[in-house]
Amino acid sequence: MEAQQFREFGRAAIDLLADYVENIRDREVLPSVEPGYLVNALPEQAPEQPEGWQDILKDFNQSILPGITHWQSPRFHAFYPTGTSFASIVGSILSDGLAVIGFSWMSSPACTELEVVTMNWLGKLLGLPEEFLNCSSGPGGGVIQGSASEATLVGLLVAKEKTVRKLVREDPTLDEDQIKPKLVAYTSDQCNSSVEKAGLLGSMKMRLLKADADGRLRGETLKRAFDEDRAQGLIPCYVIANLGTTGTCAFDPLYELGPICNEADVWLHVDAAYAGAAFICPEYRHLMKGIEHADSVDVNAHKWMNVSFDCSVMWVKNGYDLIRAFDVQRIYLDDVKTDIKIPDYRHWQIPLGRRFRALKLWMVLRIYGAEGLRNHIREQIDLAQYFAKLVRSDERFLVEPEPSMGLVCFRLKDGEIVTRKLLENLTNKKKIFMVAGTYRDRYVIRFVVCYRLTTKEDIDYSWKQIKDEADILCTDKVHMKPQIAAIDTLVGREVCEKSK
Ligand code: PLP
Repeated sequence: MEAQQFREFGRAAIDLLADYVENIRDREVLPSVEPGYLVNALPEQAPEQPEGWQDILKDFNQSILPGITHWQSPRFHAFYPTGTSFASIVGSILSDGLAVIGFSWMSSPACTELEVVTMNWLGKLLGLPEEFLNCSSGPGGGVIQGSASEATLVGLLVAKEKTVRKLVREDPTLDEDQIKPKLVAYTSDQCNSSVEKAGLLGSMKMRLLKADADGRLRGETLKRAFDEDRAQGLIPCYVIANLGTTGTCAFDPLYELGPICNEADVWLHVDAAYAGAAFICPEYRHLMKGIEHADSVDVNAHKWMNVSFDCSVMWVKNGYDLIRAFDVQRIYLDDVKTDIKIPDYRHWQIPLGRRFRALKLWMVLRIYGAEGLRNHIREQIDLAQYFAKLVRSDERFLVEPEPSMGLVCFRLKDGEIVTRKLLENLTNKKKIFMVAGTYRDRYVIRFVVCYRLTTKEDIDYSWKQIKDEADILCTDKVHMKPQIAAIDTLVGREVCEKSK
């Protein structure tokens, strides 16, 4: 493909994406395809001869788009948002176009230095303590990881290496292979699956401690777990605190966990994958009280900050901890000597190669400005509150717990079976998409305001789908199978009758 063709192809693709976003409301959020639909539709071999981009775009429209779950639809309320914006898309295109692999400063100086600058900008916007920033006088700094999962694993591997090194330094007769199996990581039973997986990948026992009734890991629970493990000859090594759990967006009290970790010399990592973006707004920073005790903090800019996947921003208080854990030298990597202020980012991550991700972050920070991003966060939280109000206005439903950030959890008072049925029916109809969670062992439906351009009318639309489906369920309930009817409470039935 020549440059001229690339211009035409590129313009057509940008037009396609602009149309896609403009007309996103015309599409059902969930695709109507069966497993294997695409595998069966496409040829078994790659084409022998080059094909024209026009044909390929035609196939994209005909075969790929019908199999897309529209994460950018305002009717997508599942999981947490996928960040994106036109600014970010352009950043990604420019990054792909330059195609640099920025593992060291020399491999592309701008790639490294723009990451340093944008991570300082963003760290300041979030109100992080200065020690985390590269522009402070200390060894702190930020790095863009691919995902929050990677950040948690990086923290775990660094904590492991640091603890082993410290113990061997204190007692040189110790053997590191004897120490490693005794190391323990801790988090709450509300953690994201990726946190538990970090324990598996990093071969460290991960204890999922019981959160309190509000989904928060409390200091006394952590302290007790440390004491129990020490009594058995085990060694506390790594703690992952959650600021905004996936299930209910609960916030662990860092001010309780932090001092316990610091006193025990245990690495404290903060997983603020979704909710961390809200700290751009000063009114939410009380939720990260105690952050100064953390060793590392991670926020997914690719969730709630209009930056496309992948862009998980991680700050550490001491970059040397990462370098000591991950520095492997080769002669072909031996170039200009840099220092902690101009990092060789290959030592700060798992892979060697790395994209120029800072470009999309830079675009977003400049195109939106801090004010634009604050407005975005506040608007989405307001919309979630609006949705909660609608749900509360219908006495068949309960909102529980209190909405947190852009997440509202709710259920039918009639109980788990009808609430499950409600979600199942809505998913089958494909007009809106939500997923389930649990709160105090009760089944709830999670509704997240995800799309960056969601309006009040969109929320009204989604609520109407839910309400209409509940109406059908209430009518059907009269004819429900005996075992379902048996578990309905009298109160629930009365509520259902009254609202008809
Ligand atoms: N942590 C939390 C609290 C999350 O909600 C998620 C994903 O939703 C993750 C971690 C995993 O994020 P990633 O896909 O970037 O690894």
